[in-house]
Amino acid sequence: ATAIDLSDPEWKLKYQRDFEERFNIPHITDAFPDAEAIPSTFCLKMRSPTYINNKDRVLLKVINYSSPASAGAVCIDPDCTWIEQWVQRAGPRENIYFRPEDVKAAIVTCGGLCPGLNDVIRLIVITLEIYGVKNIVGIPFGYRGFSDKNLPEIPLSRKVVQNIHLSGGSLLGVSRGGPTVTEIVDSMERINMLFVLGGNGTHAGANAIHNECVKRRMKVAVVGVPKTIDNDILHMDKTFGFDTAVEEAQRAINSAYIEAHSAYHGIGVVKLMGRSSGFIAMQASLASGQVDICLIPEVPFNFHGPDGVLKHLNYLIETKGSAVVCVAEGAGQSFLENTNAKDASGNKVLGDIGVHIQQETKKYFKEIGVAADVKYIDPTYMIRAVRANASDGILCTVLGQNAVHGAFAGYSGITVGIINNHYAYLPIPEVIAYDKSVDPNSRMWHRCLTSTGQPDFCNFYPHFSQSIKSSTKYKKNQKIS
Ligand code: ATP
Ligand code: MG
Repeated sequence: ATAIDLSDPEWKLKYQRDFEERFNIPHITDAFPDAEAIPSTFCLKMRSPTYINNKDRVLLKVINYSSPASAGAVCIDPDCTWIEQWVQRAGPRENIYFRPEDVKAAIVTCGGLCPGLNDVIRLIVITLEIYGVKNIVGIPFGYRGFSDKNLPEIPLSRKVVQNIHLSGGSLLGVSRGGPTVTEIVDSMERINMLFVLGGNGTHAGANAIHNECVKRRMKVAVVGVPKTIDNDILHMDKTFGFDTAVEEAQRAINSAYIEAHSAYHGIGVVKLMGRSSGFIAMQASLASGQVDICLIPEVPFNFHGPDGVLKHLNYLIETKGSAVVCVAEGAGQSFLENTNAKDASGNKVLGDIGVHIQQETKKYFKEIGVAADVKYIDPTYMIRAVRANASDGILCTVLGQNAVHGAFAGYSGITVGIINNHYAYLPIPEVIAYDKSVDPNSRMWHRCLTSTGQPDFCNFYPHFSQSIKSSTKYKKNQKIS
């Protein structure tokens, strides 16, 4: 984004123009002006009401923040007046830019598991078949499947995918790391539609594949479907799998509560997903109503000391007799040894904050001579592997269909998501510019604090404006977006 000078009387106009440029989604005709537009028969076949007009838009920002404080956000406009930001609506288009009989479509799933992957794969295949595509393949084990000669493409059809949503995981398998973008594009052979299901890393890869195809003048539509159980993709109401994850996480919290409540001075510790964003921990704590302490990466906390977590645990044991802690995996990393280890995709390997809390809690209560029965639950891989619940199943279905509509419409380098309850296409770079995170000053986080009743674990809020606002992450999140 270009820097906006608020003293410039024309800033709003420029801001609007900058926004429109950034959110303009790439089309096959940008690189191939002569690409033939073929009338679609999709709506006729499906007896659908109408096609989506290319000019149809979905409103990205709907709130007119009359006061920054009431919105829990810092507004860039001193008067906080309305700025309209619209993005392209998803759905079938009247003209398509690929002949179904010429299409070879490939689907690939990368990164970690997330409930709903099979649901999305299923609907991509089914929708492609409705368009008349016969040649559909799955790339096994993420991007790795593009380069590993021992991993042949998996032929896909309605028959193959009919029941795959009944179980979790990914029919195609997933992986991290793998070949370079050049190697991937080299091995794409006849593939001219590529559907990429994955998180920010996978999307960075998908965008690079799109750019490489444009560079090599290959007429390929690359369409992403954001898969992040952490719900940390920008602009979207939520990503698939998140609802299911919160629901399952709630079950783990409930078990921890029952264990803690049934033991003498029981303390249950539950570690949930959330590398840099605490949405799952926050929502699961809110949903369960059984959490006394919720710790997320966005909010620093003290462990020891008079305002620390341990002191509060002692207070809870004294007053309630038991306590439940819910911690996101990325929280409190400063307490753990930094090994500088990276996974195959180059992501930092985090220390285990759950184990740390368990050990430190045991040590603390031993030291102060108070009996405490500490139990630790890490439900991560149980949650990641479950099948999508009903609401995620529906979300996946619509995302899968719209991914195919987007590819046939000739868009490439795009991703599809739900925005203010409507489905929209967005250019990939805009959704992965940085991770969406919980705003510690937001109403939702404060609702969570109201629910747990936890104090500030480092005299944090009185200094909020200084400590948080000077952090780079906060600044990044306040970038005009
Ligand atoms: P998750 O939410 O599970 O972390 P992710 O998509 O972020 O999902 P990663 O393991 O980070 O998972 O990346 C998935 C794939 O994308 C890997 O094969 C990795 O090599 C590739 N990838 C990651 N970052 C980039 C990048 N900047 N450019 C090209 N490819 C990338
Ligand atoms: Mg990632």
